[in-house]
Amino acid sequence: MNDEKVQKETAYIHTGYQSANHQDSLAVPLYQTSTFAFETAEQGARRFAGEETGGVYSRLGNPTVRVLEERMAAIEYGEGALAFGSGMAAVSAILVHLTKSGDHILCTRGIYGCTFGLLNLLKEKYNVSHDLAILNTEEAIEAAIKPNTVCIYIETPINPTMEMVDIALITKVAKKHKIRVVVDNTFSSPYLQNPLTLGADFVLHSATKYINGHGDVIAGIVVGSKKEEIEEIRFSVQKDFGGIISPFDAWLLIRGLKTMHVRMDRHTKNAEKVVAYLKTVSLVDNVYYPFDESNPQFPIAKKQMKGGGGLVSFTVKGGLKKVQKLMNELKLIKIAVSLGDAETLIQHPATMTHSVVPENERLEMGITDGLLRLSVGLENDMDLVEDLKQAFAKL
Ligand SMILES: *Cc1c(COP(=O)(O)O)cnc(C)c1O
Repeated sequence: MNDEKVQKETAYIHTGYQSANHQDSLAVPLYQTSTFAFETAEQGARRFAGEETGGVYSRLGNPTVRVLEERMAAIEYGEGALAFGSGMAAVSAILVHLTKSGDHILCTRGIYGCTFGLLNLLKEKYNVSHDLAILNTEEAIEAAIKPNTVCIYIETPINPTMEMVDIALITKVAKKHKIRVVVDNTFSSPYLQNPLTLGADFVLHSATKYINGHGDVIAGIVVGSKKEEIEEIRFSVQKDFGGIISPFDAWLLIRGLKTMHVRMDRHTKNAEKVVAYLKTVSLVDNVYYPFDESNPQFPIAKKQMKGGGGLVSFTVKGGLKKVQKLMNELKLIKIAVSLGDAETLIQHPATMTHSVVPENERLEMGITDGLLRLSVGLENDMDLVEDLKQAFAKL
């Protein structure tokens, strides 16, 4: 399947693997090995010299991991991919690769908390500065670009308010200035959105979320539009910083990927049901969902996403005590951060994922004490609505 172009649902299941090369095993084997034995000293020398392909040491490459990487590259329409031991290892590898002392990174306002922490570390220790800005018009993007800007780093939809960033607009302006564009595509999944097709240079995922989909792995993926550059990162940043994925975790991701399309369709259908219900609740002020037709940014969502996905945010009247009571009254829906699992999860950004953000910045980003984020799972949709209904009834 390596060279054939297939639709993405088929790629989730087949790309990058041929049973005939692996004892006819239907499932991708787990090569749980740290190193590879050479037949002769000369063969070892050839492999180290790059004159012969084959295993050397699992930090430099592993057959199970390689299947995952080839599959991910195809799914995100890139030329190459790298798998990492966490989403943050993927984020840090790409930012270390793209920057040197004196450079500037431009970001959308509202990025993942630990990415923000990493940007501060880069600034304090390595003189790589950054700005967070609202990048919603060509003028706004132009105004935020500095002479030393080397990279625009975005997330869309933005967590947790589901604000959309127009990827094609960002890449159009960035190309004019020869600035690289990185998109954290975790929230959308590769099934719903493919930033490389819109001109981005790199797309990354916390594979912990929708790619794995079963809440039992921490992992990250980077996909690049250029094979040579991905291989450069593999043999520089990834080899020497060492943030690789374990073969077993790669194997679990390969398994998770096989049902990606089926899961995402159900996550989306269930989320639509939950959105429709929340809009009928008098205690709910606002509901934030990319494919909500009353969302002013719906046209952007429609342009770049195949569907709305499983994440829904909403605000409840009455402040902190009220929302905490609502969460505590839920019976089926679990109180947990993370997202993209079979289980529906609810979290309170102001006191959980965004608790480190200073209050005034938090409020500017729309993260009020009344805001809740749901990662809608794969349960029966009416069971989810019933659970919310009985909890609201107790407020
Ligand atoms: C979870 C997450 C990350 C970090 O990924 P880990 O796998 O937890 O290291 C980065 N970006 C986004 C948008 C996330 O949701």
